Amino acid sequence: MSDLAVFREQTRAWLEENCPTSMRTSSPENEVVWGGRKQTWINPESKLWLDRMAERGWTVPRWPTEYGGGGLTLDEDKILTEEMRHINARLPLQSFGIWMLGPALLEFASQEQKLHYLPEIARGEIRWCQGYSEPEYGSDLAGLQTKAEDMGDYYLVNGAKIWTSYADEADWIFCLVRTDSKAPKHEGISFVLFNMDDPAVTTSPIQLISGASPFCQTFFDNVKVPKTQLVGELNNGWTIAKRLLQHERQMISGIGGNTALGGSGTQLEDIAKQYVGEERGRIADPAVRNAITEHRLNDRAFQLTMARSGEEAKAGKAVGNLASIFKFYGTEQNKRKYERMLEMMGTQAMGWTGDTFSDREISTTRQWLRSKANSIEGGTSEVQLNVIAKRVLGLPD
Ligand SMILES: Cc1cc2nc3c(=O)[nH]c(=O)nc-3n(C[C@H](O)[C@H](O)[C@H](O)COP(=O)(O)OP(=O)(O)OC[C@H]3O[C@@H](n4cnc5c(N)ncnc54)[C@H](O)[C@@H]3O)c2cc1C
Repeated sequence: MSDLAVFREQTRAWLEENCPTSMRTSSPENEVVWGGRKQTWINPESKLWLDRMAERGWTVPRWPTEYGGGGLTLDEDKILTEEMRHINARLPLQSFGIWMLGPALLEFASQEQKLHYLPEIARGEIRWCQGYSEPEYGSDLAGLQTKAEDMGDYYLVNGAKIWTSYADEADWIFCLVRTDSKAPKHEGISFVLFNMDDPAVTTSPIQLISGASPFCQTFFDNVKVPKTQLVGELNNGWTIAKRLLQHERQMISGIGGNTALGGSGTQLEDIAKQYVGEERGRIADPAVRNAITEHRLNDRAFQLTMARSGEEAKAGKAVGNLASIFKFYGTEQNKRKYERMLEMMGTQAMGWTGDTFSDREISTTRQWLRSKANSIEGGTSEVQLNVIAKRVLGLPD
């Protein structure tokens, strides 16, 4: 038997023995594990599953074992994913630490920082939030004004961030700060990490049009950040910031099989059958049939392209700026899906507490409203098109 066949057999046996039965179903929203000090365990088996997977390093299968990872090769990682899908196992942990910060730390942090932060991320002990956008600086991120002054052995951080997802639930923040206000704007930025559990940090929730409040405005009023929490070189934070954005855009587009887009897994044809009706085994309305076929074809082409790029990335060829293509297309496609859902459901979808589908807990109307933010978060569609034009196609300014 080849080494990989042995690995598959052992993985299957381990999952069979260690994945609790209730973890072999898709996760209701209130059971999704984001980790961190404020995590509550509605289903205690979620904790058991996380601990068992983390113990093996399988919350981050490809990270080196010294940082809490599984040290798996590309092929082993693929087998693990296949075997987990085979039993419909949930992801034990979803986390900005895994998807965004961790890969940036692996590339840019010192050995001490990696040994300190990465195992905590792998075990889901610390939940992270992202302090990038500011009230006047979203698309023009490099103009950010939150200031960090050198005070000897620490930086004194003052300013405000906005749209900080889950700032009120996060333990730590990775944050862009201005450390040289005289330098050209991209050259005076640094990347720092600090604890949100500090009285000098306060958050104020902002409500989305869908009714949820997943993000906050975040204020820093004389926060002391030890210099050991600077990642990379002083004033070189923009390089790290850009790389992390590529990881974020991959996350949002869904490369790697995560569920960050939050799109409904419900198929459009099931909705059509229920709301538009069937005629001789087909969806009754030919226009709806056409629209669904078009959507499914585009979806399929997108999934295949992402899968190819994901394989290349795992094999060591970084996705880089291609992430902007996936972020752009994936989020626009997700928005179109919700438009179609509403069209088909008609008046029955119209309402705050109207009909919904099994994998989501809020009405389709509210999900449709939430999907509008997909093409804003992580950089707007217009900004992705700019990146594609400049950095992928090499078009002149
Ligand atoms: C749900 C959600 C979660 C978020 N989470 C976080 C988070 O955790 N952390 C964080 O730091 N930020 C977060 N953000 C902020 C997000 O990154 C910004 O909203 C986004 O980058 C756009 O910035 P802005 O809102 O300031 O819009 P603006 O930059 O003011 O843009 C306004 C409009 O102008 C267009 N525009 C601007 N510049 C250009 C240009 N050069 N060319 C063409 N068009 C342009 C934009 O596309 C947009 O349509 C989140 C946003 C949302 C909606």
